[in-house]
Amino acid sequence: MSVAVVDRPVAASLPPVLRERGQREVFCGLTGIIWLHRKIQDAFFLVVGSRTCAHLLQSAAGVMVFAEPRFATAIIEERDLAGLADANEELDRVVDRLLARRPEIKLLFLVGSCPSEVIKLDLSRAASRLEAKHAPRTRILNYSGSGIETTFTQGEDACLAALVPSMPAAPAGAPASLMIVGALPDVVEDQFRRTFADLGIPAVFTLPPRRAADLAPVGPNTRFLLAQPFLGDTAAALEDRGATHLPALFPFGVEGTTAWLRAAAAAFKIDPAHFDRVVAPGRERAARAISRHRAVLTGKTIFFFPDSQLEVPLARFLAQELGMVPVEVGTPYLHRAHLVHELAALPTGTQLSEGQDVDRQLDRARAYRPDLAVCGLGLANPLEKLGITTKWSIELVFSPVHGFDQAGDLAELFARPLNRRDRLAV
Ligand code: SF4
Repeated sequence: MSVAVVDRPVAASLPPVLRERGQREVFCGLTGIIWLHRKIQDAFFLVVGSRTCAHLLQSAAGVMVFAEPRFATAIIEERDLAGLADANEELDRVVDRLLARRPEIKLLFLVGSCPSEVIKLDLSRAASRLEAKHAPRTRILNYSGSGIETTFTQGEDACLAALVPSMPAAPAGAPASLMIVGALPDVVEDQFRRTFADLGIPAVFTLPPRRAADLAPVGPNTRFLLAQPFLGDTAAALEDRGATHLPALFPFGVEGTTAWLRAAAAAFKIDPAHFDRVVAPGRERAARAISRHRAVLTGKTIFFFPDSQLEVPLARFLAQELGMVPVEVGTPYLHRAHLVHELAALPTGTQLSEGQDVDRQLDRARAYRPDLAVCGLGLANPLEKLGITTKWSIELVFSPVHGFDQAGDLAELFARPLNRRDRLAV
């Protein structure tokens, strides 16, 4: 199949962005392990960290105590530089023991964290050393989930970027293929695969794959769609391998999903009339499901604290399709090129902020008194105490929210706290 050349989007003239470099209230990148370990079913995530890291993972993903877990923390105690040789030996022993006991592990990630003892360890060298020992049965890679380097969803970006060099090269002259980049729940991924098949795009791969051995081939004939807005390093690594990004709105709501699918259809030269026929039922289902929440959400003001990097696409969806009014849209990092279509679709005058200075931002929220604030877990109680209704941003990452068939659920996630507030006020 031939593919069209896709123009890079011209950088939009951005509305003024408030850049803040103060204290942050966000999770670190280790959090991504909670959804990534469910996605890559024969992978294991070994955090090399402290007791704090172990507590974070255990409390956030505690349900796994009922099963053989696919993540763990190797706790590195305080030691000086002279003790590093021992730390490396200890790590090797832990990995050897783990892989002997769990032969089904085909991909092991050594995940770095922030304690200084861990920073002193060279985990990329440790991964190469251990891979030499355990290949070909187990591939061993490393990335950092450290709170110094990453926020919340950036852990997924670091993990996927670490996978890209291991992807096989697509053979020269191979037919064009499409890659969906970003971890999606299996059910959502399957829906997208069916839609692409109906459109007539046969070769569709995903990153991450469900099994380590199914890493997609990549090369100049690879076109990729980002399913998440926080994958800057992964996109850059794929582009270095010759793949081409298809810029689009992100697949939230009717318009986002349509635009995202259309970007692929255009790249694969799918007849526009055929495209419209294929997406029409999904568009109608989504529009119907969303309309049920319009009465609650239209005209309500919303304030996004920076957390998941989903803030800009979600604000666009809520404004465009539900008539909400975003008063401030904060994001830990604003990837201007990937968000160019989203930013252009935000209502004029929306205040954007990048980074965080949490006290100043709380002051602004207090002054705006939005109907709803989307924030991390740590800010929810103080905001509720101020009388501001909140939505935990982590729920938006853990729930299936992409695509036509999840659009109603996505709207409901924002309507629910407002409904609850109204019921409590009666
Ligand atoms: S990586 Fe850093 S921020 Fe994250 S839990 Fe460990 S110590 Fe805390």
